Amino acid sequence: MSNESGNNALTPPSNFLRGIIDSDIASSKYASRVDHDGKPLPTVITRFPPEPNGYLHIGHAKSICLNFGLARDYGGRCHLRFDDTNPTKEEQEYVDTIIDSVKWLGFDWHYGDATHLHYASDYFDQLYQMAEWLVNAGHAYVDSQSAEEMAANRGNFSEPGKNSPFRDRPAAESLDLLRRMKSGEFQDGVHILRAKIDMAAPNMNLRDPAIYRIRHAHHHRTGDKWCIYPMYDYTHPISDALENITHSFCTLEFQDHRPFYDWILERLTEGGFFKQPLPQQYEFARLNLTYAITSKRKLLQLVEEKIVDGWDDPRMPTIVGIRRRGFTPESIALFAERIGVTKSDSWIDMSTLEGSLRDDLDPKAPRTVAVLNPLKLIIDNFPVNETADCSAPVHPHHPERGTRQFSLSRELWIEQEDFMEVPTKGYFRLFPGNKVRLRYGFVVECTGCDKDATGKVIAVHCNYFADSKSGTEGSANYKVKGNIHWVSVPHAVEAEVRLYDRLFTDPHPDAGGKDFKLALNTDSKSVVAAYLEAGADQAQADEKFQFERHGYFVADRVDSTKGKPVFNRIVTLKDSWGK
Ligand code: ATP
Ligand code: MG
Repeated sequence: MSNESGNNALTPPSNFLRGIIDSDIASSKYASRVDHDGKPLPTVITRFPPEPNGYLHIGHAKSICLNFGLARDYGGRCHLRFDDTNPTKEEQEYVDTIIDSVKWLGFDWHYGDATHLHYASDYFDQLYQMAEWLVNAGHAYVDSQSAEEMAANRGNFSEPGKNSPFRDRPAAESLDLLRRMKSGEFQDGVHILRAKIDMAAPNMNLRDPAIYRIRHAHHHRTGDKWCIYPMYDYTHPISDALENITHSFCTLEFQDHRPFYDWILERLTEGGFFKQPLPQQYEFARLNLTYAITSKRKLLQLVEEKIVDGWDDPRMPTIVGIRRRGFTPESIALFAERIGVTKSDSWIDMSTLEGSLRDDLDPKAPRTVAVLNPLKLIIDNFPVNETADCSAPVHPHHPERGTRQFSLSRELWIEQEDFMEVPTKGYFRLFPGNKVRLRYGFVVECTGCDKDATGKVIAVHCNYFADSKSGTEGSANYKVKGNIHWVSVPHAVEAEVRLYDRLFTDPHPDAGGKDFKLALNTDSKSVVAAYLEAGADQAQADEKFQFERHGYFVADRVDSTKGKPVFNRIVTLKDSWGK
């Protein structure tokens, strides 16, 4: 990390998670651990554990930047682990896109010759052995109540639960049933393996939580090998411990699950499966972004109901969507750093994300001209078939990046809004009798316009002053207020430009169980014809520019073709939303 002034930007802003890591390092908590080959283990090992049941969104990006970022900053490592314990909702397609998204954000799980890409399903055998041990040790039992009975006996926040009549069945009987569950003898739901903790615990998560359930379903990686699958709350701490994770960061809703996380690891440590120091769970606030939704289920609904054009629609807060929209990995990292981590839930304003993009692209993006709603301007006194050479800096603050050359000719494209036949007060662009400068070119004086039969303006006329060219001595003799941009008709590149805006008009579209479909912004996408500066047809997919006056744009990675580029507006130059 570095900043423009080159001074020490190596120290990232502190936060409570760094505080925890710092104090663990100070107390040498994880200092003397070794792996099974006797090699020392890093003192910080984190993991990012997505369930492969959908596309990642900006909230996951926060978690990725946090987990991989902390591991990098502390010289440790971060594992990418698929929490793939729910066979009916998971698919290879999701595994592939998640891998892609993490890589795109700039992170990697290769450390030396070790690859830390893991799957909870790789641990199914171990998870099962540990379950048998828990049964034998009296810490788990097979419950044969119906789902309804189990729910009724669970109690609620004000009432303790009731013990299952099967809770005290002999361990040998539970073990026999567990093995028969595994061998496929029973239908889904007939039996379930539960931890034996406390049916009266104030924390509902400790009222004999389920560990294994019967599910006759095909798994995207283990196929038909298993018909019982471990529960997430059982799998997660064990996966962490098997991978020698030190700090297991998750979102606040898992706070009540932490006692079970600890209970499982303590029991299994007594059983000799693990050694102290154990991994520890810490919670941070999830990201809620205004004007967006960050729930995989609701995002799926937008895709399935064709409200958007797929997971990578540039309006989607998915990582594939924001990537296609033109956001850079650096802008996401900057955003994650700016929002930090906290212990209480809040909303982050969309303008913070957009501001990070502007701050990242402003120093990088080459400038170019685009005319979005074109109108023809004819310079009547400019010689037919001749051109004048003009130039402009590639970047106004980086002269070392050189200049762009382009031609001016008799016919130009200008923006429709840069001409008014009858000007409103304070309008100083083109209107009959007024002079303006054609940016990087000449001063012209408007003489009138042509209209079609309906009265619509179809061309504007002007005369130019040959001694007024920008960069020449004569230019100083002309004082004009308006400075408009243009591209030369015979040299311009025709393009499709997609103007994207926020998908919702309500800053909290799904808060409090609201129907987010009622808050859809009907103007979130518009497509305009445009003419771009010569050379724009050479833009590579994903290449980003600042279109002068309009904002930041990217060559669409999917629909751009050679010679006919498609550009997406990433964000306008300034935040004008709702103002
Ligand atoms: P969703 O609710 O959208 O389905 P999830 O939490 O179920 O998301 P997982 O695949 O389980 O999705 O998430 C992987 C990791 O990303 C978890 O550690 C989770 O805490 C974290 N995460 C998910 N959503 C957010 C968010 N909005 N902000 C920060 N971290 C998040
Ligand atoms: Mg989840």
